[in-house]
Amino acid sequence: MEKYSLLQLAKHALSGHRHWPPAWRSPEPKQSYDVVIIGAGGHGLASAYYLAKKHGISNVAVLEKGWLGGGNTGRNTTVVRSNYFYPQSTHFFEHSLKLYESLSRELNYNVMLSQGGVLTLGHSRHDMEILERWSNSLQLQGVDAEMMTTEQIRRHTPLLDTSRAARYPIWGGFIQHRGGVARHDAVAWAYARGADDRGVDIIQNCQVTGIRTSAGRVQGVETGRGYIRADKVAIAVAGHSSTVAAMAGLKLPIVSQSLQAVVSEPVKPCLNGVVLSGLVHAYVSQSDRGEILIGGGTDRYPSYGQRGNLPLVEETLAATLNLFPRFSRLKLMRQWAGTVDISPDSSPIIGKTPVAGLYISGGWGTGGFKAIPAGGETLAHTIASDRPHPLIEAFGLQRFVDGALIDEGAAAGVAH
Ligand SMILES: Cc1cc2nc3c(=O)[nH]c(=O)nc-3n(C[C@H](O)[C@H](O)[C@H](O)COP(=O)(O)OP(=O)(O)OC[C@H]3O[C@@H](n4cnc5c(N)ncnc54)[C@H](O)[C@@H]3O)c2cc1C
Repeated sequence: MEKYSLLQLAKHALSGHRHWPPAWRSPEPKQSYDVVIIGAGGHGLASAYYLAKKHGISNVAVLEKGWLGGGNTGRNTTVVRSNYFYPQSTHFFEHSLKLYESLSRELNYNVMLSQGGVLTLGHSRHDMEILERWSNSLQLQGVDAEMMTTEQIRRHTPLLDTSRAARYPIWGGFIQHRGGVARHDAVAWAYARGADDRGVDIIQNCQVTGIRTSAGRVQGVETGRGYIRADKVAIAVAGHSSTVAAMAGLKLPIVSQSLQAVVSEPVKPCLNGVVLSGLVHAYVSQSDRGEILIGGGTDRYPSYGQRGNLPLVEETLAATLNLFPRFSRLKLMRQWAGTVDISPDSSPIIGKTPVAGLYISGGWGTGGFKAIPAGGETLAHTIASDRPHPLIEAFGLQRFVDGALIDEGAAAGVAH
């Protein structure tokens, strides 16, 4: 521990945790900053951290309308993996996974990365051909991927119904062993503490209500706590990307939809890593507390509701029981949703915008948690140098003009 000695930890514990210092300050907003970042989710906080750490830019404010990490970063199902299909995505997400692998050390905060593997199931000959093509493509790009037979899957996850009598028999699958889960809140808190330590102001309960521009250049932001001047402003607001970008006159090709998840009562450890099926459209993992965490697809209409609808929950649970009939005995404890921003090719929109000094990190859709370290690092580089980082060059808004889409619909689907 760098910050606390064992003696201090014992003192805090024995004094009923009354004297813990706050992990970050709650400063009043200043009248101007070099950089303002809108949204204190993982992406906004990581961008601020890397701006300060790697580029020496710490006169930065992260403005959050609610509480930090209260958006999708604190609502997701925490899957991390880099098994995308196209090289642009694979290189970016593999870089992110590598950053995750050393993140606890980098931030001196246990983000509880657990690399139990991400297993994708195939239920037909067609599925298996697609999975083989996918896993070959990954291997060619130097990313770990391995095909598994039904027998290997049975040994890996005994609770799965691998019998031929299953409604959707499992023909095999492919696994990324380095994939897994990480603690979502810890990722937000760790970046927040790291950014705050370096002088970044994180200002909660401060909604951005307008973006001022003049002659095609950003000037600052209107907030519930007054006007804040900044030459550079970054938007990192997930499901609200379109509404916030519209404040600067930008129309984004993004649809906002609810994405739900549920957890069961806790049970003894019974599941390794993440198991998912694109066919039945559900994915399952077990949290460190023992809860079975279940997710599926998005609600099928645009919405800003952070609640989600019942038919989708029923559909996802029915899908899960096709895979794990024994889970029918479990009781559900909680259900929730987040608002995700989905782009036409299911790839992120990150980089510069047509407004000078205005940057965006959005379109992460259902899969931006795993992207937080690399998204933050590359956006910080882009803001500092006013040039897109090479890893995100392909993910700019210009691709919708050029038609150079990177269609990750299949890899981003239920896998998130
Ligand atoms: C149920 C669910 C499951 C998911 N599962 C996975 C998964 O397993 N793996 C994965 O990689 N990804 C997953 N995701 C997606 C992932 O959570 C997001 O892509 C990611 O968290 C986006 O991070 P962010 O920092 O961009 O957004 P957020 O964490 O949502 O942060 C944006 C912040 O901006 C704030 N904000 C909005 N408007 C304003 C404003 N006007 N002024 C100030 N602040 C504002 C919000 O309050 C919010 O705190 C899932 C999402 C959901 C909802």
